[in-house]
Amino acid sequence: MKSQEKKQSDAERFALAETSAARGFATSTVHAGRHIDPTTGSVIAPLYQTATFVLPEVGRDLGFDYTRSSNPSRQALEENLAELEGGGLGVRCSSGMAAVDAVLRLYSAGDHIVCSHDVYGGVSRLFDNIASRSGISISYVDTSDPARVADAITPATKLLWVETPTNPLLQLSDIEALSALAKDRGIVLGVDSTFATPFALKPLEYGADIVLHSTTKYISGHNQIIGGACITRSESIYEGLKFIQKTVGAVPSPFDCWLTLTGIKTLSLRMERHSENAAEIARYLEQHPLVSRVAYPGLSSHPQHELAKKQLDAFGGMITFELHGGFESGVTLMNSLKLISLAESLGAVESMITHPASMTHVCVPREERLARGLSDGLVRLSVGIESLEDIKADLEHALEAVRNQQEENEVSSRKEAAA
Ligand SMILES: *Cc1c(COP(=O)(O)O)cnc(C)c1O
Repeated sequence: MKSQEKKQSDAERFALAETSAARGFATSTVHAGRHIDPTTGSVIAPLYQTATFVLPEVGRDLGFDYTRSSNPSRQALEENLAELEGGGLGVRCSSGMAAVDAVLRLYSAGDHIVCSHDVYGGVSRLFDNIASRSGISISYVDTSDPARVADAITPATKLLWVETPTNPLLQLSDIEALSALAKDRGIVLGVDSTFATPFALKPLEYGADIVLHSTTKYISGHNQIIGGACITRSESIYEGLKFIQKTVGAVPSPFDCWLTLTGIKTLSLRMERHSENAAEIARYLEQHPLVSRVAYPGLSSHPQHELAKKQLDAFGGMITFELHGGFESGVTLMNSLKLISLAESLGAVESMITHPASMTHVCVPREERLARGLSDGLVRLSVGIESLEDIKADLEHALEAVRNQQEENEVSSRKEAAA
């Protein structure tokens, strides 16, 4: 009886999600999921920091029973995220990885997954070490080429997992083309859209079945929480994910959801500034003599700039660049920055930088790293929303330190040669 009532209310929520998806994006960021508290009129949705809910009588609850199953603060965020993605329903998880794991748990032994080859390190770690243990096989392909994806599909393929733009190389995949392919072969298409955010890209509107975010990054935007979410328009996928969420319990705290919802309200403004700053920094780096290569979807030198223009409403705040002088130059640059933080995350208001060869990918054997395009001098910059001049000045002074170090090396090697 009770589950029957729940089913109906999910269907109703789907209908509701569709009708409210028509308002402007910035309006949705501020208002979606906001229910004004009828008892106090509080303009901000109250924080329901509670584990459980009192039932008025046996067999009847007021929509919530236990926070592992659902919580009003979490539900408000799930509604907001779903509306930002253009409709559907959201499932919020305790981290981006918990969200990927929830998707993975929809599959079982014998199933095959095709995955982007330049994928977030945690995702390949999960697929290679945990999925493989349950008899799920994975093929990594360059998903920027739909023909290669088609070649990798086998009769056992159930899921196509695409990251776009990728971390850290900022490669793009054509979601529209991949979704046509996935539909043709009866495969679920999941898109990790953490770098783009719904401000720049709404994968569900291009036919993806699941969109995933590490809400740790741009969605929350303030380096306060770890979180993840999946959004889907498929009722069966939603029910599957919801069941996994409730059963496994990798749920976020109500407080984390409440903070995330506060962060989302400024998503449009932040993404505009991230994109403006990053476009300028990308141009600055591209003309710098110590920089051999800059990857930014907004540069005409990006190999998929045309696709970026077609598919993205903004080019975002992430830049990857390569320094002449390899590993040592990368380390010198990192150690010389003052404003830009040396930190492994991305997508927050603070500018942050990482050096994959010495940080995120230090465990990957060098040959494998190089084969994946992660060279020794590669640097990933998450451009924050600070004053552009200050970000540029910090880079300028750190690049100066790299030049001085390279000159010192030349002098000492000349001395050695002479000795
Ligand atoms: C950070 C990140 C993840 C993992 O999210 P967590 O919140 O750190 O668990 C997944 N995908 C991408 C693209 C990411 O950047």
